[in-house]
This record gives sequence, structure tokens and C-alpha cells, in this order.
Amino acid sequence: MRRFIIAGNWKMNKTIVDAIELANGIKRELYDIESLDIVICTPFTALSEVGEVVVDSNIDLGGQDLFWEEKGAYTGEISAGMLKDAGCKYVIIGHSERRKHFAETNETVNKKLKSALKTGLLPIVCVGERLEEREAKKTFDVIKDHVENSLKGISKEDILKTTIAYEPVWAIGTGKTATPEQAEEVHAFIRGLLTKLYDEATASAIRIQYGGSVTPDNVEGLLGKENIDGALVGGASLKLDSFSSMIKKASKLK
Ligand code: PEP
Repeated sequence: MRRFIIAGNWKMNKTIVDAIELANGIKRELYDIESLDIVICTPFTALSEVGEVVVDSNIDLGGQDLFWEEKGAYTGEISAGMLKDAGCKYVIIGHSERRKHFAETNETVNKKLKSALKTGLLPIVCVGERLEEREAKKTFDVIKDHVENSLKGISKEDILKTTIAYEPVWAIGTGKTATPEQAEEVHAFIRGLLTKLYDEATASAIRIQYGGSVTPDNVEGLLGKENIDGALVGGASLKLDSFSSMIKKASKLK
């Protein structure tokens, strides 16, 4: 059975002091949750200190991005090794905000994914259609393109370490969540693609999270669907009460 994974994406929010305070609160509130994986992806500046807060706890640390080279003259970039050094276990790759504002493509996502896996990080690879693509009935074409090209050349062993996050762009930060049925339809489609790329046993072991305005009010409906294995959460992960409440609700589902 797939274990749920709920990851908070703090984006460009929180000073180091605020990040430590929130991480301490999460640790305190959720110390006894063992049935699912909890990840917090803080800004780079806070990773190391939040890493010290959550070390030896049931909370894992994640980066929000990385660059694929190991080191060198890449001003402003952070490597997979640096994320590990700061205490990260996970890393988000190809978030739609990076695709939109920083011109990320499936090709760059693929390079980042390979670098993360080579370094021993567990990647969370984001895929998802924009509103105009959904309205033009291109959702499945876009998802197929994102999945096939982002995962190009990834072995069966490595795909099992990877989480896919389905994040319809029109649902991110908008308060417009996909209905559980809309999300499940795409998650099942992604699992079908993974079956073709790998095999049925592999595809059925890969976790596919949903992301897009997940809150304590809608998390149970979404996670109640067969192919939805957790959530990638932006806004609602920035507040202790909403993040801990959704995790407590999710933990009772499995
Ligand atoms: C996200 O950042 O991946 C996200 C889904 O944001 P939000 O929950 O705010 O829609």
C-alpha cells in the first residue's frame, strides 16, 4: 500500500526566525503521526536551521529547487549536494512557478531530476496543465508531455524513489481546488502512463500527490480517491493550525 506524503511548500516566505518557530510548532503538534510522510520545504536560507529543528523527528526537510551541476561558476544556484549538506531528504523539481517565471522546461526538469537522484535526494516532480490548456481540452496531452519528457531515462529503481505531484496550474494559490473527481481522473491517467513507461507493479508503487489550494476542508475528499497519495501544499502550509489539521485528518484515512 502506498503511504501518503504531505509536503508543505513555503515558497518565498518566512525569515529564519519565523521558519524555526513554525517548524517547532509542526514538530510539537505532529510528533505522534507515524502513518504518513511529512515534509517541509523551506526557503534555502532557512534550511540549515530548520534542519536542526526537525533532525531525528518524523518531519523531513526538502528544498524547493536545485541546479543540476555539482559545483562551480553558477552564481545564485544551489546544488543537490548542498541541499543534502543542509539536511534535505527531498527536493521539489519543476514547480509551475519555476516553469512560468524562470523558464524551466521538461528538459531542465529532467536534468535536475537526474542530479537529485544521483545525489540521493528524493525528488517531487511537478506536472500540470494551465487553465487555457484545460479549457482547450489539452490536459491529457500536456500531462503526457510533462511526464514522458521529465522522466526520460529514469530507471525503474529511481522512479520508485520519485513522487509525482499533479498540480493543475489554475488551482495553485487561487482557492479553486480541482474536485476529487477531476484530480482522480488525471492521477489515474498518470498511473496509466507510468505503467506504459515501466510496468504495472512499478506504477502502482509510485506516489502521486495532488497540489492546488488543498486545505483542511478539502483534504479528506481528495485523499479519499484511489490514486491520490498525498498533497503538495502551498498557502495552507504556512500556518501551523491549517497544516497540522490537514495532516491529522489525512493520518486517520489510512
Ligand atoms: C504549491 O505551491 O505547490 C501549491 C499547491 O500552492 P497552494 O496550496 O497555495 O495552491
